[in-house]
Amino acid sequence: MNWKFLALALLAASFIWKVILNIADRRSADNPTPENVKDVYDAEQYAKWRSYHFEKVRFSLISTAASFVLLFCLVLTDAFSAIVAGVTDTYSAAIFVLLLYELSTGILNVPFEWYGTMVIEQKYGFNRTTPGTFVADTIKGLVIGLGVTIGILCLFIAIHLWLGDGVIWLFAIALFAIVMFFSFLYPVFAKIFNKFTPLEDGELKTSLLGLMEKHGYKVRAIKVMDASRRTTKANAYFTGFGKMKTIVLYDTLLKTMTPEEICAVFAHEMGHGLHKDTLKNQIISLAQICIIAVLMWLTVRTVEIYGFFGFAAVNYGFAFVLLTEIELQILSPLMGLVSSAFSRRAEYRADRQAVDEGYADALISGLKKLNRDSLGNLSPSPLLVRLTYSHPTLSQRIDAIRAYQATKTVSA
Ligand SMILES: [Zn+2]
Repeated sequence: MNWKFLALALLAASFIWKVILNIADRRSADNPTPENVKDVYDAEQYAKWRSYHFEKVRFSLISTAASFVLLFCLVLTDAFSAIVAGVTDTYSAAIFVLLLYELSTGILNVPFEWYGTMVIEQKYGFNRTTPGTFVADTIKGLVIGLGVTIGILCLFIAIHLWLGDGVIWLFAIALFAIVMFFSFLYPVFAKIFNKFTPLEDGELKTSLLGLMEKHGYKVRAIKVMDASRRTTKANAYFTGFGKMKTIVLYDTLLKTMTPEEICAVFAHEMGHGLHKDTLKNQIISLAQICIIAVLMWLTVRTVEIYGFFGFAAVNYGFAFVLLTEIELQILSPLMGLVSSAFSRRAEYRADRQAVDEGYADALISGLKKLNRDSLGNLSPSPLLVRLTYSHPTLSQRIDAIRAYQATKTVSA
């Protein structure tokens, strides 16, 4: 088999697939707006949403095309093997290839990130990032990303050279441990990018604590994050494990929502906690890691691949490129289908928690507000929802909230 031809063909196929999704996304603007969300935008906001949507879709198509062209040329011209010609050390050869890959794609991305944030988001009034913050974020992100990837790749090489075919399970376990470690350390990493301050005492804090107490739910702290440094979009999330959990509210959320609506969003987040959704997500991510480990193992085991791309020996860095850019891309619709379905089910369940606490109306008005303030798509493509949406659409959520609320009034 000509592996190089296959790789180029699959790269092209995955690009075409992304274009198809992009077209589906673009076309969704012409879907009729569902009845229950017709009041989210007025005529002017609707026009603004359409123009934001088209601009984002066009931009994502251009950036996808640029990444594809770059990678296609690098693979076509054997650039990866060219830079390690004469390098015999397995680790150095892998790291050089990885550096070429990460730096070229990373640097290509910078002008696109800049345009997306500083031009498009700016134009629609979402951006609060200053050029200084943007540069600092980009450098921090690139350095952390490179450090983590090089570290994980070296770990894989060490285990593989040491144990040979025993590698998959050990690597999967080690990678899972690393992922857990980073999510445990997430609050520390988050501090590199944002400031966190405890929520001030007051009516809101009292109601939030009351909600938690009712369920014997414990968290370490309720923190407010200075999201407004970068964006006007609002959100809330939990981090940490067990009794070490912290609830993070975006300062933008506190500005735009009523206390009642914040309580509703909070009850939703608590619903995730009560249903152990984090734990379930960790199990899904362990399954994904096992798939990744098996693929990586198959890729380094198939020794004949590397000659087709000009390498004298197996190159672990190039195996990583094949894994991320081809194998995982081909699997991504399937993995997305499963993981997003799981995630959407968890979102419905968390919404029901907010209804149980008596916040059905506040949740709906809060969700509408979030959607309006972020110019969300009210009628997204059903294909994209199935494949990529971690949350059901606003209309689906409202239907589910009302239906659940109706069953409660009947039984009460
Ligand atoms: Zn949620």
